[in-house]
Amino acid sequence: MKLTILGCHSATPRWDAHPTAQILEIRGNLVLIDCGEGTQMQLRRYKVKFSRIKHIFISHLHGDHFYGLVGLISTFHLLGRETDMHIYGPKGIKEAILLLLKLGKSWTKFNLYFHELDSKEPQEILDDEKFTVETIPLDHRVYTNGFLFKEKPRPRKLDVDAAKKLNVDVSYFQKIKQGADVTNEYGDIIKNEKVTFDPDPPKSYAFCSDTSYFPQIVDQISKVNALYHESTFLDYHHALAVKTKHSTSKEAAVIAKKANVGKLILGHYSGRYGDHDMFKAEAQEIFENTELAEDGKTFKI
Ligand SMILES: [Zn+2]
Repeated sequence: MKLTILGCHSATPRWDAHPTAQILEIRGNLVLIDCGEGTQMQLRRYKVKFSRIKHIFISHLHGDHFYGLVGLISTFHLLGRETDMHIYGPKGIKEAILLLLKLGKSWTKFNLYFHELDSKEPQEILDDEKFTVETIPLDHRVYTNGFLFKEKPRPRKLDVDAAKKLNVDVSYFQKIKQGADVTNEYGDIIKNEKVTFDPDPPKSYAFCSDTSYFPQIVDQISKVNALYHESTFLDYHHALAVKTKHSTSKEAAVIAKKANVGKLILGHYSGRYGDHDMFKAEAQEIFENTELAEDGKTFKI
């Protein structure tokens, strides 16, 4: 998996601070997570082949997480897109987008499928060939979900040297890759695991923005390889975090520690802070493997 941060700031867009949007590449598939204002410019700036996006996941209907969506849909239309597009987001997202298109007498040549969400329990919302996506219900001022992306197990890898040593004919290699036991030229049955390597373990990524401190998510995101957790405020502004239903960097780190994740990525910084190093310093007092999201930064997961 490869994560590209297109924007990781809260509230108003500024020339050097873009609202939330991320591209996740999962085994050749591109998905867009949130779509703040200006996302399509960021997609171009970081040279993302965005015609390949087939699924868009919107956490909630605050402007800094979805005001870029109608512009992006319009651009896809102008570029002649014909591939289906699936949009997952809170109930109401379909009405919001279709109203704007309708008022401009606009339309799309491609099919737009809306998958509207209103459950407060985690649910699997996509079962693709190589990955699945589940909602992570969060606690914010409006109905909000995070998303959990999980790779499916990869096929075992062919060990060519072992297969040759055991006198397995090349014509059986495809069968071996599909997991079958085969027979060698002497009629011996060769077990699949003797001629294959274990595949890399499947990776997982949890996106959690926006939310107040909400430990109920810990079990669901347990041991993910990477967790993006919002940290709108520093500990000094804890009261403000409670009031606005956001998290502090320390609270994000507590969640990361309780869930025993591989890596914590912080973002959704309030515009009141000029420097973000304190976010990392505060979180690292609790959870060492913490990194800061920055616009344009990529993370290998
Ligand atoms: Zn919000």
